[in-house]
Amino acid sequence: MANRRIIVVGGSAAGPKAAAKARRINNNAEIIILQMDPELSMASCGYPYYIGGYFDDRNMLLSAATGVTRNSKYYMNAKDIDARVNTEVTSIDRTNHIVSFRNLISKEEGTIAYDKLIIATGSVPQMPPIPGIGLDGITTLHSIREADYLRKVREEGKIRKAVVVGGGLIGLETCEALHRAGIEITVVELLQQLLTFLDWELAKLVENHIRSKGANVFTENGVVEFLGENGKLMAVKLQNGAELPCELAVIAIGFKPNVKLASAAGLKIGPAGGIEVNEYMQTSDPDIYATGDCVETLNLITKKKVLAPLGDLANLQGRVAGENAASENCVTFPGTIQTGACKVFDYSAGSTGISEFAAKKMGYENLITVISVGTDKPFYMDGYLLVTKLVADKTSGRILGAQCIGPGNVSKQVAQWAMALQGGMSVDQIINSDLPYAPPFSQAIDHFITSAHILQNKMKVRLKGISAKEVKEKLARGENPFLLDVRGPDEYEAMRLGIGETLIPLDTLRKRFNELPQDKDKEVICYCKISLRAYEAALVLEANGWRNVKVMEGGIVAWPYSREK
Ligand SMILES: Cc1cc2nc3c(=O)[nH]c(=O)nc-3n(C[C@H](O)[C@H](O)[C@H](O)COP(=O)(O)OP(=O)(O)OC[C@H]3O[C@@H](n4cnc5c(N)ncnc54)[C@H](O)[C@@H]3O)c2cc1C
Repeated sequence: MANRRIIVVGGSAAGPKAAAKARRINNNAEIIILQMDPELSMASCGYPYYIGGYFDDRNMLLSAATGVTRNSKYYMNAKDIDARVNTEVTSIDRTNHIVSFRNLISKEEGTIAYDKLIIATGSVPQMPPIPGIGLDGITTLHSIREADYLRKVREEGKIRKAVVVGGGLIGLETCEALHRAGIEITVVELLQQLLTFLDWELAKLVENHIRSKGANVFTENGVVEFLGENGKLMAVKLQNGAELPCELAVIAIGFKPNVKLASAAGLKIGPAGGIEVNEYMQTSDPDIYATGDCVETLNLITKKKVLAPLGDLANLQGRVAGENAASENCVTFPGTIQTGACKVFDYSAGSTGISEFAAKKMGYENLITVISVGTDKPFYMDGYLLVTKLVADKTSGRILGAQCIGPGNVSKQVAQWAMALQGGMSVDQIINSDLPYAPPFSQAIDHFITSAHILQNKMKVRLKGISAKEVKEKLARGENPFLLDVRGPDEYEAMRLGIGETLIPLDTLRKRFNELPQDKDKEVICYCKISLRAYEAALVLEANGWRNVKVMEGGIVAWPYSREK
């Protein structure tokens, strides 16, 4: 294969992946990584767990599975890649195929010629342009130095109160990490919910869980000012005027692609603000590829270009850019369905595809959704609950999005839905999926398939579902449906909604029809803990003449509002 020099700019996730793949494809190429940071291949996704004390050896963030640190020596010895750290690329001369660089320690400047260039400059954290942003005690969590700073906060144990600004994936992971360090935490989110990849009702359940762990959450309330004394942070001021005393604030309001170098070199920047690339990860200059957080990517469902700053995509795209730069364009990265997950205390939350909110915002009208609750394993194997919401095309049943939260194995569920979406599968194709079953791993019919069954029942109008949100809105409008809780009396004693419901356990229902509205057109809404018994109750009522019976999807477990008990 042709001898060529490939220069990779950026040495964290996407860059080294591209370089390593290029080496495997082309043994003769000269491959150089120019990395601004002092470290290489930092596992940034692991920072919150290092800060939270899940492990203590910082070097694990920088090591291969064998325990070897991925430094310049490792890249040279193991992969014949010249990885130069503390080296910032300052410009790209596309006409002469030259990059200029500066060593940040020695201040030495120089140039190197390239045949192919791969840009993997990542992202930069967004900062709110508000007074006090420069005070001591305000940080983001993007670099390993910021991870070091927050880990030191944990170890010193001096800080009592902290505020996390932004309730996205990294904000909530940081919230948990600092909470584990014994710090009183408040999460402040400008929007009306945390984790915007979820629909509101699932996000609210996550919020309730965070509160139950002792952390505070404010939504629909941005930070307007950081207040300090002698240059040190003392409090944050919120839009509603409240002041939260704190000695630490972590800004986690998102990242934007680092396109400075690419933009200055005249490469095309796309509508979403990332470097524009084709399916070969090739920029508007055929000799320059780009990969990772700095690019924008095609969303395979909406067909729109999006920013998807995720570690898995950085690695997948890196492989493609590396292979194409090392040979000729031969492999492609088609796009993303934006699959992601995060851990929030004992819950996990994840999604793939699009939410109902996003779908409606984009103008999808022919939608059907369902919320289903079940356990990931049998109860005798310590099964944990999962709450899943599906979004599908009402006519074809094609799945457009799936969200899952709860203490159970969310990641497995989201992974299954991601493959179903990627394959363009419909509900009818999913319902008989042959998945592995043994009690330590799943139910005989996995929650993934059960959720599809429930959606299919709804599509066939066997199940007339209504969401908790719709029930709450009905009650707020002054409507007066007959609310029927069909759980047992002991369950009712232990936990109940207190929204004017009547308790008639399912096993007594057939003998107690006289306690139901005798107007058979009166709206009856049934529920139980997860609404499985409620579905059976609804079928019994329908078989006995009631014509307007609904089931509250997900039951009490999916009720995001406060309860009487
Ligand atoms: C705290 C945290 C938790 C995360 N958790 C997850 C998760 O659980 N799951 C997930 O999928 N994703 C997660 N991510 C996102 C994931 O880490 C990123 O998508 C991934 O790191 C992107 O890789 P990258 O190589 O494109 O960019 P980066 O990791 O940002 O690396 C870019 C590198 O380029 C270098 N550079 C920039 N400009 C220059 C220049 N001019 N010259 C030389 N070098 C330059 C920088 O020094 C940097 O090291 C998390 C991110 C953070 C910060």
